[in-house]
Amino acid sequence: MTAHPPPAFGKFFLPGPTDVHPDVLAAMLRPMIGHRSSRMEELLAGMAPRLQALCRTRRTVLVGTTSATGFMEMAVRNGVRHRALAVVNGAFSERFAKLVVATGKECIRLDVPLGAAVEPDMLRDALKRNPPVDAVTVVHSETSTGVLQDVAALASVVHEFDDVLVLVDAVTSLAGSPVEPDRWGLDFAFTGSQKALALPPGLALGVASERMLQRARALPGRGLYFDLVSFEQASAKFQPTNTPAVPLLYALEQQLERIEREGGVEARWRRHDAMRQRAERWARERGIEYLPCEGRRSWTVSCLRLPEGRSAKELLGALKQQGWVIGAGYGALKESTIRVGHMGDHTVAALDELLSLVEAQLA
Ligand SMILES: *Cc1c(COP(=O)(O)O)cnc(C)c1O
Repeated sequence: MTAHPPPAFGKFFLPGPTDVHPDVLAAMLRPMIGHRSSRMEELLAGMAPRLQALCRTRRTVLVGTTSATGFMEMAVRNGVRHRALAVVNGAFSERFAKLVVATGKECIRLDVPLGAAVEPDMLRDALKRNPPVDAVTVVHSETSTGVLQDVAALASVVHEFDDVLVLVDAVTSLAGSPVEPDRWGLDFAFTGSQKALALPPGLALGVASERMLQRARALPGRGLYFDLVSFEQASAKFQPTNTPAVPLLYALEQQLERIEREGGVEARWRRHDAMRQRAERWARERGIEYLPCEGRRSWTVSCLRLPEGRSAKELLGALKQQGWVIGAGYGALKESTIRVGHMGDHTVAALDELLSLVEAQLA
C-alpha cells in the first residue's frame, strides 16, 4: 500500500529510463503466448516492416531480450577479430572500450575530454597512426555528456580504410534523431528500449550489415546468447532465439503503432529537434552554458552546467518535491551539471513547464 498516487505521465525526464505512456504500459497486460507459437510468429512478422521503417533499414531488425549493453557485447563479439579502436568521450563509450578488453581483444583508445566529440580528422589520424584494426566503436549520442557525434562523417572516414567495421551505439539517438544504418554504412547499430523509444527497459534493437555477418561467420568465440549468425537466421524467419520478454514485445508493438500515428520516425525526429532547440534557447537567454559546444548537442539529452555555487543535488531534490525528475551529471560532473532527458514521448509543452520550475529554483 502506498500513500502516494503514482506520478502522472510526462514529468519523468531522466535520461533513461524515460517515461512510458500509459497505453504502452497497458499493452503489457495481455496474456502470454508460446514463443514457438504461430501467434508469436505473427507478432514478430507484423512488427518487422515497422521496425525497418523505424531503423531506416532494408535489413532485418534484430530484437533481443537484453539491456542495450547486451547488444554492445554482440557488436564486439561478432565484429572484432583481434583489435578495435574505441572512440572514448564519456561513460558509455568507455563501456564499449572496456567490453573490447573484457572479450579478450586488444583495444586502442582515442580519448577526448568530457563534453567533446571526436572529429573526422582526429579519427583518420588515429587510424593511420596505429596498427590496423578490425573495427571502430563509437557512441552516437553520449548520454553522460550530451554530446552528439557526427557518425555519418566518422563512418565515411572508416570506409577509407580496408576491412574496418563501424560499430555504433545509437542508444539515445535512434528514434530521437536521424540514424541511417544503410545510408551511412554502419556495420552494426543498436539501441535499447528505455531511451528514445520510451519503452520499459529490457529490449535491445540492432541492425547488422552483410559485411558484419560475414565477419561474424568466420569468428570463433561468438558465444551463444549474442551469436549474431543464429540471431539473424531466427529473426529472418520471425522466430525468437530463446524465450523473449513477451510483455515487452506487446509494448513494442503498441509503441510502433503510436510512432506510426505520430507520422513516423521523421515526425518523431522533428519533435525531438524542437525540444532540443527549446532547451538551447532557454539556456542561451539565461546565460546557462551547455557542456558540449553548439552543433554537437544531442537531440535527446541536454547537459547543462549549473551556475557557480549551485548544487545539482539540491536542484534535483527541489524538483522531486514538485513531482518532476531530471538527471544529475554523470561521474565527475555529478554536482556541477544536470542532464535533462527530453526524449521518447515528451513534448515541448512539458519541457517548458519543467524549465520554468528549474528557473524558479535557480533564481
Ligand atoms: C543507457 C545507455 C547504454 C546502456 O544501456 P543499458 O540498457 O543500461 O545496457 C549504453 N549506451 C548509451 C549511450 C546509453 O545511454
